[in-house]
Amino acid sequence: MAKEKKTVHSYEYKAEMKQLLNLIIHSLYTHREVFLRELISNACDALNKVRFAALTQEGLVKNEEELKITIEVDSKNKTFSIEDNGIGMTEEDLVANIGTVARSGTLDFLNQIKEQGKSFDENLIGQFGVGFYSVFMVTDEVTIETKSYLPESKGYLWKSSGEGTYTIEEIAKPNRGTKISFKLKEDAADYAQEYKVREVINKYSNYAEFPVYLKKEKVNQVLALWHKPTSDITADEANQFYKFLTNDNSDCLGYLHLSLEGSVNFKALIFVPQKAPYDFLRVQNDSSLHLYSNKILIQNDCKDLLPEYLRFVKGVVDTTDLPLNVSREVTQNSPVMSKISSILVTKILNFLSSWADNDKDKYNTFYKNFSALLKTGLNFDFVNRDKIIELLRFETSLDQPGQLVSLKEYVSTMKTDQKAIYYLSGDQRDVLESNPNLEYFRKKNISVFLLTDPVDVFTFPSIHEYDKKEIKSIDKADIDLMPEDKISLNEDNLSKSLIDTFREILKADVSDVVVSKRLVDSAVTLVSGKDSMDPQMEKMMKIMNKEFTSSKRILEVNLDHQLIKNLAAIHIADKNSPVIGKCLRQLYEGALFIDGNLKPNPDFVKRMTEIMVDATK
Ligand code: ADP
Repeated sequence: MAKEKKTVHSYEYKAEMKQLLNLIIHSLYTHREVFLRELISNACDALNKVRFAALTQEGLVKNEEELKITIEVDSKNKTFSIEDNGIGMTEEDLVANIGTVARSGTLDFLNQIKEQGKSFDENLIGQFGVGFYSVFMVTDEVTIETKSYLPESKGYLWKSSGEGTYTIEEIAKPNRGTKISFKLKEDAADYAQEYKVREVINKYSNYAEFPVYLKKEKVNQVLALWHKPTSDITADEANQFYKFLTNDNSDCLGYLHLSLEGSVNFKALIFVPQKAPYDFLRVQNDSSLHLYSNKILIQNDCKDLLPEYLRFVKGVVDTTDLPLNVSREVTQNSPVMSKISSILVTKILNFLSSWADNDKDKYNTFYKNFSALLKTGLNFDFVNRDKIIELLRFETSLDQPGQLVSLKEYVSTMKTDQKAIYYLSGDQRDVLESNPNLEYFRKKNISVFLLTDPVDVFTFPSIHEYDKKEIKSIDKADIDLMPEDKISLNEDNLSKSLIDTFREILKADVSDVVVSKRLVDSAVTLVSGKDSMDPQMEKMMKIMNKEFTSSKRILEVNLDHQLIKNLAAIHIADKNSPVIGKCLRQLYEGALFIDGNLKPNPDFVKRMTEIMVDATK
């Protein structure tokens, strides 16, 4: 077999990668220095992996050398290099990891940003796993020399100017690890200055877990912050660590330090971010908690530490109760893990509840960003359900928009004779406020929760009752009236016959027509049968399943309304007058419109015009 020596393989980036690079290279950055944070963070990952391999796969990794990162700069020639002795990369790794966009959805998102004319900033770089490519902010051409830790690996040299292609060639490289080098662009020449590099490391990478050397001098602290006593951790340190861990550019909203000894032993440093990452409900991009065993990282983003509904927190958990070589299968089933997890959940929920009690602004910020996820816990975590229920907040019809009210507060202001906790769900508050079903409650000054988060229709009704009070949608047919309104409605024969006519006209559209006890200003309203689904829920079901057919609704008629009185008079004179049918259909479709369920329909406008012509004759 002929020996292929020093062959240079050329590769073309996939189209999406080209677009991404184009965006990075031609965008404006406010903080170009993040490239350094990204490179250090990648080097730390590679070092963590090799340390883990050394501990778990005996004999695979020679462990005689200190695991470290070395940065070299030359201010005269404006060059920069960063080297690690981590796991390195094979040729396949280079193609798979460096040549492609790691996360689906990244590109869509980036295009959106571009269309909206926003700047593609440094937070996004971290969030979307395009870290390595941030070097193209400061250079025109990058070289990677790398050799994998795996036995028999060869060295490779990767080169690209970030345009359309890259090359890979085999090289002689004696040591395991990766070295990334480049010449800085004129306007980024600062990063070839020692003081500048030091400054950036202090800002972003003080908490790197491996020593970073610059001119043979260690420039970072290498400190497992979570091992300090709680009182010794300053907010500044915590925030620095948070930023290092998450690539977030802002401080965290708050953090919780735990140090537990007893049936399980662990320390944890847990952060709540200020802002939810883009699209975080739909895409599970983000890492949550990293698992350490005695300061050594054993699992990045360990899914078994927290239930899904708490995945908005970030941080580290470090336990001495798990062996270093613990596999994913073991963490999934280990009693130690489930103990740690249940303690963490309780502590985090208590932490949030302390904000709810003592720092409403903070709690509201948290709630606006993350409640959609938190609420899903109601349907999964039955052990902590009551705690989650106490954390819920909603707007109500009696409070200002934006003001959030808990179930406890709602109950404490309930009317003496009020039977249930009421809610109405829909897309927007102003539409809900004009819903005729709210009229009776407004007249009686009874508060109604206005639910506008789509998640609410799945979660809120599932609470069923709170403080022994039933939770009820006011869209339902069987509303309770206050005692003073419970006088039996004296339906005379005339109104009975009118309702019968209405029933006949709408028999294909509604399940019934009944006299309303709740309407004040409106002539008619649509309600759901006692046992049917919440209309908002039906809407969601329809979005998810095109075949879903919603149940027919009940039309309630306000006999005290002037229009109905007029129709009743016409009805007495001529039971079959076409005006009755025309008006009723208009009323019915108007009610559908208010519900957001009126399909575009030319008859609506035509009929309306005819009625107006009659009125203006
Ligand atoms: P991310 O780090 O968010 O996955 P990057 O674009 O920064 O995205 O890096 C892509 C991948 O390239 C990494 O996941 C890793 O597999 C590989 N990589 C980058 N830098 C190194 C390094 N110094 N050593 C080994 N592998 C690396």
